[in-house]
Amino acid sequence: MPSSPRVRSAPGKSRTRAARAAHLLKGARPSAAAARKKKAAPRKSAKPRRPVATQPGKSRFFTPDPVRVAAVIEQLRELYPDARCALNHASALELLVATILSAQCTDERVNRVTPALFAKYPDAAAFANANPKELEEAIHSTGFFRQKGRSIREACADIVTRHGGEVPRTLEALVALRGVGRKTANVVLGNAYGIASGIVVDTHVARLANRLGFTNESDPVKIEFALQPLVPRELWTLFSHWLILHGRAVCIARKPRCSVCPLAPHCPRIGVTLSQ
Ligand code: SF4
Repeated sequence: MPSSPRVRSAPGKSRTRAARAAHLLKGARPSAAAARKKKAAPRKSAKPRRPVATQPGKSRFFTPDPVRVAAVIEQLRELYPDARCALNHASALELLVATILSAQCTDERVNRVTPALFAKYPDAAAFANANPKELEEAIHSTGFFRQKGRSIREACADIVTRHGGEVPRTLEALVALRGVGRKTANVVLGNAYGIASGIVVDTHVARLANRLGFTNESDPVKIEFALQPLVPRELWTLFSHWLILHGRAVCIARKPRCSVCPLAPHCPRIGVTLSQ
């Protein structure tokens, strides 16, 4: 019987954690250094580790209270009954383009640029065949115009060649378009098609999700996956709008207005050291 392949570390490099574990699982004795480390380590209690809320991204152990989460959701629903997508659009394609333009740019500025842009490029084929310089000029004021212009042209070329000119309706197909990430795909599906594919996590959503103690992750995708089980699926799109609106009006980045915040009774204010 052939022996199983051995996991070897690269010359000059120590073993990875997985390789070390595989090595030890095979019954090998730990190295002298590992044995010394184990002996010196303090004994751990048999009690399970309790969830703790620390600085964002610092602990893996975190369990938000569902009753508190529900109270926050109800309060947000009352505070922002007219919440909607702030990017003006009349189709999924327009929203896709507007969302690409909104990276590192305000929604207001994007809304100033898009009317003329959508008049000049009325469909995916028009964007795909756009003269790069002309397109860059049209979106110049939104910043990062070269990257954004390329993303728009490439995504639209994929839409034309692979989807007959229609923006696809699944997360998988959308993120497969060049220049389109998970956040953009969730924005389009939730707001243009009414499909709750995920929760849009931008800088406001990430900040509030941490301060409210809904997660202690810092990576947007991990935050999204932490929020999904907490929020009813039919509210995923609205929930993002609510947090974005609250983040702009009250829970601002530098000095949140906790003294006037209606969420204060339900908010542990994780990581907030300065407030007004
Ligand atoms: S209480 Fe403070 S930290 Fe909590 S949501 Fe309101 S403004 Fe943000």
